[in-house]
Amino acid sequence: MKTFRDDIFKDKIALVTGGATGLGKEIARRFGRHGAKLCIASRKQENLEAACNEFQSEGLDCMWVTCDIREPEQVERVVSEILARHGRLDILINNAAGNFPAPISGISYNGFKAIVDIDLRGTYNVTKAAFEAYLKKHGGCIVNISAPFQNLGVSWQAHVSAAKAGVDALTRTCAVEFGPCGIRVNAVAPGGMEETEGLARFAEATQDAGGGGSNPLGYLGTKGDVANAVIFLASDAASYITGQVFAVDGGAGIDMMKMPVPTE
Ligand code: NAP
Repeated sequence: MKTFRDDIFKDKIALVTGGATGLGKEIARRFGRHGAKLCIASRKQENLEAACNEFQSEGLDCMWVTCDIREPEQVERVVSEILARHGRLDILINNAAGNFPAPISGISYNGFKAIVDIDLRGTYNVTKAAFEAYLKKHGGCIVNISAPFQNLGVSWQAHVSAAKAGVDALTRTCAVEFGPCGIRVNAVAPGGMEETEGLARFAEATQDAGGGGSNPLGYLGTKGDVANAVIFLASDAASYITGQVFAVDGGAGIDMMKMPVPTE
């Protein structure tokens, strides 16, 4: 059984930053399968080309543009290339981010700045470029990919926590400012998701094969679990939802004490 109808994004154009790898790639693929025309954008041309070829071999409509989301002019070029090709941009998924797990003593001044620059400023740059060039006049939908770390204190993630706290704040502010333009803005905060670079790096650095601990459901989520939440938030089923940050983490974030659960 399919969760969503095949054509829910027919004739829509979706931009997924970081859409050539990991969670972003699965999110992009799902939008494509539900009828959206895709643009994926990030720095590495070889990854973009490979993902785009894969999508096209699956019958999806995909273009790619290289860009570093830290650079406003590069981000503006992505938006203008989409508008030149399709004449519209309906859905923006701010997924691109950097992460290297490290305790504060192991994060250089520049390392901290780089993560805030990519995760927070990058999200702002792409949002602003898409808003000014198209969304402001036509409406649309933005989903930011956040994280759960910033809601509690999580070691090894000071830089990412700081940046993603900003992403959550930006999500709410954009929802308020953009609402009158017919734009909904939400965020999805994945927990540890199996078979992703993010989780692999975290597990390797912290020597934690579980990738950050347990959750009430007792297993790691999949890239598809995150993609499903993003699809829902971008769909008409979520037409009255804006300014929210949705955890997709098997309940890890609400299980504060991680006490053993009684079995009887
Ligand atoms: P990933 O595979 O490393 O993907 C990150 C993507 O961002 C890459 O495609 C990368 O492409 C792009 N990117 C990085 N810096 C960029 C820049 N300056 N400009 C443009 N693109 C840039 O990571 P992932 O694990 O799938 O994570 C995806 C999202 O989920 C991130 O927002 C992450 O914070 C969030 N998240 C993941 C997990 C998890 O378990 N994996 C948990 C919580 C949150 P290039 O190298 O080609 O630029």
